[in-house]
Amino acid sequence: MPKYDLNDVIEANERLKRFAPLLQALFVELGPTRGIIESPLVPANAIKGGRSTSHGLFGNWFIKADHALPVAGSIKARGGIYEVLLHAEILSSKEGLMEAHGDPMQLISPEARRFFSKHRVSVGSTGNLGLSIGIIASALGFQSSVHMSSDAKPWKKAKLRDHNVHIIEHVGDYEFAVAAGRAQAAGDDRTYFIDDENSPHLFLGYSTAALRLKRQLDAAGIQVDSSNPLFVYLPCGVGGAPGGITFGLRHVFGDHVHCFFAEPVESPCMLTRLASMSDTSVSVQQFGLTNRTDADGLAVPRASEFAASIIKSHVSGIFTVLDEMLYEDLYLAERTVAIRIEPSSAAGFRGAEFLSRTDRGQNYLQKHGLITKMGRSTHIIWTTGGALVPVEEYQTYWERGHALHSAIPHEEGV
Ligand SMILES: *Cc1c(COP(=O)(O)O)cnc(C)c1O
Repeated sequence: MPKYDLNDVIEANERLKRFAPLLQALFVELGPTRGIIESPLVPANAIKGGRSTSHGLFGNWFIKADHALPVAGSIKARGGIYEVLLHAEILSSKEGLMEAHGDPMQLISPEARRFFSKHRVSVGSTGNLGLSIGIIASALGFQSSVHMSSDAKPWKKAKLRDHNVHIIEHVGDYEFAVAAGRAQAAGDDRTYFIDDENSPHLFLGYSTAALRLKRQLDAAGIQVDSSNPLFVYLPCGVGGAPGGITFGLRHVFGDHVHCFFAEPVESPCMLTRLASMSDTSVSVQQFGLTNRTDADGLAVPRASEFAASIIKSHVSGIFTVLDEMLYEDLYLAERTVAIRIEPSSAAGFRGAEFLSRTDRGQNYLQKHGLITKMGRSTHIIWTTGGALVPVEEYQTYWERGHALHSAIPHEEGV
């Protein structure tokens, strides 16, 4: 396997910068950022007040608001759009429609569109990756197909159809949908399959977030060094998005950043993969777990081997959350910091509590000499999806969270 380093992250970021004018031309919502797809870093200390007790909730809290990423409404925007742009660039260079490192605007010429319309981009997804890839592929003029699992949310299918994306539904879970998509594309040289379980390009696209976060922290005057640790809590599905970000952050901040993944109790595929200490992939079903969760973005039975092999030496730990916690935190996110997220996107909210209130969390802090530094720590909860959720759908999530929140006793009400 090729080795990746910080230069690959920088190169991916440079490619996205080079393509920014094209993205700006395709998507009006990118006007204000001149074609760069990025999310704000939002102060979020108010979340602590929503907890039953703020005991042990140290440091300065932020939300990295990828739930609001433009164009695709989820963390999948960076990776998915990156890989489709890369593919379009390579394909059109081969065809002689664009010289290597030429003007990306050539990719939206009528000739390029006509050419792309004879090609297909395909992907297996529970929803958000399909949205990201379907939207950019259609915008460039490609045909696109998304292989979906039966647990994909109906509104995500409807959105994809709005973008002229062909949906193939499979009975079975995410892993099955990816395998079916891969098999179908294998026999067709006009189809490019984006393999969520094994894609360096997606991974590097995601990793660019690290460089941008560094700039946002600098702009906010937040130091990250040996006396000011940074903790990041990332929802994890197959592992590509949180893995790419972790990979990037570790290259930017070294040992001063501590990245923790959050997975559903019934779908902890990266936890089981890394804890198994074996060299072969494992499925959560082997451990008697169901892979059933309302967190559709995280409902993955088997981790990406590509992501697992790279991040095993970078990820600090993994904690699991119940669906009830996702709903409660989705509700708290709205009440305390006025953001609207989907259930998968709420998985990182318990990270700081995991560290400060469990033996394992305490052991980690102790082992790394962090106990006395917690007062100067920064905590980033990465919210990963939600901007495209229809209002009525969101309302049902919110009500569920509200009911759960009201059912438990609290020191101070929110
Ligand atoms: C896909 C997704 C994730 C996790 O990304 P992976 O690459 O699958 O690990 C997290 N949150 C949301 C909302 C997602 O759609």
